[in-house]
Amino acid sequence: MQILRTLAEMKALIHTWKDDDQLIGLVPTMGYLHEGHLALVKKAREHSDRVIVSIFVNPTQFGPNEDFQRYPRDEAGDLQKLKDAKTDAVFLPTPDQIYPADFQTTVHLSKITCGLCSMTRPGHFDGVATVVLKLFHLVKPDVAVFGEKDYQQLAMIRQMVKDLNLDLEILGVPTLRTQEGLALSSRNAYLSEREKEIALVLSQSIGFVQQEYRQGIKNVSELSARAKKLFENEPQLFLEYLEIVDAKTLEPLAEIIQPARVIIAARVGKTRLIDNGPVQP
Ligand code: AMP
Repeated sequence: MQILRTLAEMKALIHTWKDDDQLIGLVPTMGYLHEGHLALVKKAREHSDRVIVSIFVNPTQFGPNEDFQRYPRDEAGDLQKLKDAKTDAVFLPTPDQIYPADFQTTVHLSKITCGLCSMTRPGHFDGVATVVLKLFHLVKPDVAVFGEKDYQQLAMIRQMVKDLNLDLEILGVPTLRTQEGLALSSRNAYLSEREKEIALVLSQSIGFVQQEYRQGIKNVSELSARAKKLFENEPQLFLEYLEIVDAKTLEPLAEIIQPARVIIAARVGKTRLIDNGPVQP
């Protein structure tokens, strides 16, 4: 497994792979890898000849009061996991490689990034879109793999690829969970055992919406009001939002008559968690 830390090393490797007509699969991550990330690597393997994983805790997608400094990091552990998963190359750039001192471009999508997470994380999606587009230009992947766990992010990237006629395929991978249902996340490292139990309300409320919908409630205000009640009994749990939106455009719905998604962000203590699931007619 090759380990690359500079743009020059990266470009040279991509050059040789392209010369050999290798299909390239990219998996962008922020590290502190878990089984969810490794499912993305597996998917990339299935759809390409060479898999490259980037590990970059991207400063521009964190707000000033967010957890950029304390975001969990474990380079040695990540490299071992990626080696075991038969990754061909890992790109570990330093922030100055990605953002030199005179850097001044931002990629902004106007609509799909408006609601949901952008309400409490202004600028977050600009940071993601900018770094992902840079990675696409550097790695020139044929496929790039993202998790449904970050549903708004995945929808935004699909939109960006369409809007900018980028010549690659975006693949999504369903969210991997613990046996109890907690979505795997690097940020779960912040949670105590008790907080992990409390955090189960997120996935439980998704299951609740799906069940209520199957029993015939199609009105979105009613469904979300009922689901929000599940958050009220737990004082350590603060619901940021629970919305049921169009699965593709992420626009609000009144009734579920097309594929929809329930999307949630909540804080457990100081830790912000997100989760989502399908609500299918
Ligand atoms: P992150 O390192 O948190 O930025 O995540 C990197 C990629 O892994 C993103 O595309 C995430 O959506 C994806 N991912 C994170 N957690 C999970 C999970 N539990 N299941 C599937 N994909 C995930």
